[in-house]
Amino acid sequence: MASVDYSAVPIKEKTLHQPPLQEVADVLSRGLKSTFSTVEVSVADTPDLTQSPYYLTSPGLTGNAKLLELGGPPYLLPLVQRDKLYDLALLAKHLKQDPAFVAGAGAGPWPHIGVNCEGIINLSINNGTIDQGTRIVSIEPVGAPKGKGLYLQRRLPNNETRTALLGNYLLSEGKPGKVIKVVAKKRIGESNFITAIRETLKNHYGDKIVGLGGTFLLRAGKVKFHVMPDFSATPLCTDSDVDTWLHYFEMKAPITHVGTLVTGDFGLDLRVQHFHGFSAHGDGGHYHYDTTPGDVEYEGYFALAGSIVRVDAPTNTHAVGRD
Ligand SMILES: [Zn+2]
Repeated sequence: MASVDYSAVPIKEKTLHQPPLQEVADVLSRGLKSTFSTVEVSVADTPDLTQSPYYLTSPGLTGNAKLLELGGPPYLLPLVQRDKLYDLALLAKHLKQDPAFVAGAGAGPWPHIGVNCEGIINLSINNGTIDQGTRIVSIEPVGAPKGKGLYLQRRLPNNETRTALLGNYLLSEGKPGKVIKVVAKKRIGESNFITAIRETLKNHYGDKIVGLGGTFLLRAGKVKFHVMPDFSATPLCTDSDVDTWLHYFEMKAPITHVGTLVTGDFGLDLRVQHFHGFSAHGDGGHYHYDTTPGDVEYEGYFALAGSIVRVDAPTNTHAVGRD
């Protein structure tokens, strides 16, 4: 099946507010203290993210950093639109970005395995050469009833550069450089790690919209994840329908997450935060929150994005399935 033709779908770009990194670090340092008992935020270099326990395909997150949002939940719900396949190598070419690093949360390329799956996108392109580190996670056996199925994580080969339906990605040159480093331990508030960061930034910056993309490691503790089963044959019309359809699992550290967050919408129908995780031990999927607040430890590295590029936004939209 052909992937989406980028010259034939709407692509809009909006400039994001880019405060000094140190200011962002100070804002987060103060604000996150209501959610975590230990908070250390700084402007720092990333470690080499190609190494354990990160396993990303670029050493850093910076260089012309942008957020990318493709499609949206309306292409998944109430019923799947199977024509919504997005080739990320073609998109980088269309946007004239090489070297390119694309990392974040999306739907995996279902034609690759024949069923719907989570995508933990982690793709680098250098002089046209693909390094595909994306993992996909699906429910096994296919069609297992909820509560009976397990999940299976696989790595995509270099010749599979598609995703599907929806995605929230950092797009950068993947170069080493200064980013926001956030270490947070022992959760004492209600928000998850990403919500706490996004709401802290929104409270401070108000109408000036700030966007971050990058990675965070769950160093200790457990998290609630979902994994999508195959597409529903019956329409999923409400969040309750979606909740009944999704399969939930508790997964354990260490897990590397990739994704984006943005403090406003620009009227672009954005998903304001979305992170997926993968691991060497096979755990992977869509991050909701940690389930062990007393012993949770997060370590995140986030690039401040200069703009958000909105690709193929659904014209008939709805607010279902955005958690
Ligand atoms: Zn997701």
